[in-house]
Amino acid sequence: MMAVAHMCAAIAVSGQADVSIPGPDGSTVVKVIERETQIYYQVEHNGKLFLNSSRLGLRTNAFDFSELEFVTMDSERMAGDYDMNRSKASRMSYDVNRAVLTFRNKEGKSLQIEFHVGNNDVAFRYIIPKEGETGSVRILDEMTEFSLLDTPQHDYLKTYLTPQSHSMIGWKRTKPSYEEYYGVGKSAVEPNEYGHGYTFPCLYQLGGDGWVLISETGVDGRYCGSRLGEYHETSGEIPMYYNNHPSYVGATYKIEYPMPEENNGNGTVEPAIALPGATPWRTITLGETLKPIVETTVAWDVVEPLYEPSRDYQFGKGTWSWIVWQDESICMEDQKKYIDLASAMGFNYNLVDNWWDTRIGREGIEELVSYARERNVELFLWYSSSGWWNDIEQGPINIMSNPILRKKEMKWMRDLGVKGIKVDFFGGDKQETMAHYEAILSDADEYGLMVIFHGCTLPRGWEKMYPNYVGSEAVRASENLVFSQYECDQEAQAACLHPFIRNAVGVMEFGGCFMNERLHRSNQRGTTRRTTDVFQLATCVLFQNPIQNFALAPNNLEDAPKVCLDFLREVPTTWDETRYIDGIPGEYVVLARRNGDKWYVAAANAVDQTLEVNVKDVLEALGLDKADVRLISGGNDPSEIAPKAKHTVKIPKNDGAVLIIG
Ligand code: CA
Repeated sequence: MMAVAHMCAAIAVSGQADVSIPGPDGSTVVKVIERETQIYYQVEHNGKLFLNSSRLGLRTNAFDFSELEFVTMDSERMAGDYDMNRSKASRMSYDVNRAVLTFRNKEGKSLQIEFHVGNNDVAFRYIIPKEGETGSVRILDEMTEFSLLDTPQHDYLKTYLTPQSHSMIGWKRTKPSYEEYYGVGKSAVEPNEYGHGYTFPCLYQLGGDGWVLISETGVDGRYCGSRLGEYHETSGEIPMYYNNHPSYVGATYKIEYPMPEENNGNGTVEPAIALPGATPWRTITLGETLKPIVETTVAWDVVEPLYEPSRDYQFGKGTWSWIVWQDESICMEDQKKYIDLASAMGFNYNLVDNWWDTRIGREGIEELVSYARERNVELFLWYSSSGWWNDIEQGPINIMSNPILRKKEMKWMRDLGVKGIKVDFFGGDKQETMAHYEAILSDADEYGLMVIFHGCTLPRGWEKMYPNYVGSEAVRASENLVFSQYECDQEAQAACLHPFIRNAVGVMEFGGCFMNERLHRSNQRGTTRRTTDVFQLATCVLFQNPIQNFALAPNNLEDAPKVCLDFLREVPTTWDETRYIDGIPGEYVVLARRNGDKWYVAAANAVDQTLEVNVKDVLEALGLDKADVRLISGGNDPSEIAPKAKHTVKIPKNDGAVLIIG
């Protein structure tokens, strides 16, 4: 991983209250505005106001930076690229104008705000220098706001948001688990069920003018995770520079830190940093279409690897018995069946889920590792993250939370040849919990283990920061399809949201692709899948994670269509390139990912209107004139054909299609 920065001459501006920071092509401009003693920023894109004047500043226990005076700005052009082996593209690049603005508070203490302004992305963070004796601060509150425009009738701004749940509720008091529903295309003023604001990332549509995705990145054990607070309306206070809408109000969301109840009340809600120090990056991705949002790399552009990997990690595909066969399958006999399934499919991994410590035992795991090895399959083992922050009794518990036991356990796994762990049920977003994620990742790398998190928060740049990090749930994932028919009824809508929101900023371990019609071991009862077999295949491309644990069951070797099994054997889990082709969040999506010289184009439809995808249009969108094309379509009676360029595939509601090109 190498970052090459081309530095341009620094421009210094001083003694000027209002400054502009354009992106390289000038389409995006950040303006920082001083109004009396308060600092605001706004973001324009192609001459339109995408973010209204929004407050900046923070208060610490030592210094109050809520009121500031602008002192100076240094800026430079910065471009570079770097390798990424686990996400939506294998080579990521950035080209930004970087500006560091220095402000002074009433006591003369300095605060800096660093902006990176690209053509479709803005990232910024606060930097607190060390001045005098004070070597650390607690951040009590961050003023940072994101203010969008709306009409007074609230018919301009549409929101695609998932609420932050109450803490210490739900299954074994494990929430927040970042598994709530999304509001789809709702007005900003519609309240959510909890009243604690929204989990990142947050997507907004600005009438016909464009889209904005707000998130954060670079959060490690030295800070807490943040979220957006509840909607509040602002109007009239701030002079407006632009009127791209005849009359408007500010739909404003402020950065909020974790809630006191999280993590069973353990740990502070106020992050503490050493000085000089910086906050994580707040990110804004914006575009007239959804293309910049689907294709953004800003979550990784502004972060750096935190350690070198102890070895090369191999990504790929896996089976997991728990998703369809549930707790009863955590036994030697069923695990062998799933290892046989993985082997028959040519998958690298089998995940042994909760309760293995008592139902299979450590000696049993040794036997399973050998059994799997003989079949070219390796194991992942499940752990609870707990701890003293929930009521989880699914074992193993109380190991990953203790550094002494954790390292002993990891040494056992390394000596045995276990390849990774799935750690579940985290306590929230406090700094203490973020440090826990980091400690698990860092220790696991020492012992050659990859790490998947479930019951967890959004990854924030972690694919680049931690070389053995291979996935997070942080979504209402496949288990809910097993638990509830409503979830199955809504499956297509949810699947047509994730490429634009959750999966746009981080890998997503969804654990899907069911070939059972009924999501039960018998395939005769349980919830009923509403989506087609080909829809399920499309999700293997739509949902991106470097290790995909698919929801196949052993019976699918006999009862699933051969074309589906062949596709699952073939489909990659890592990508060289990702391209948005078409879509509306929650309605339909057409997305392409390239691995080597092959493009995999996935289409999925969640609405009554038939989705039509023309082969020639797809080829044109990818800049290809002629290529070998294979089309998998046909719902629950799937087939693979070599379509002519003029072929249009018709996709009804709850169905999908996959094109393999090259
Ligand atoms: Ca979960």
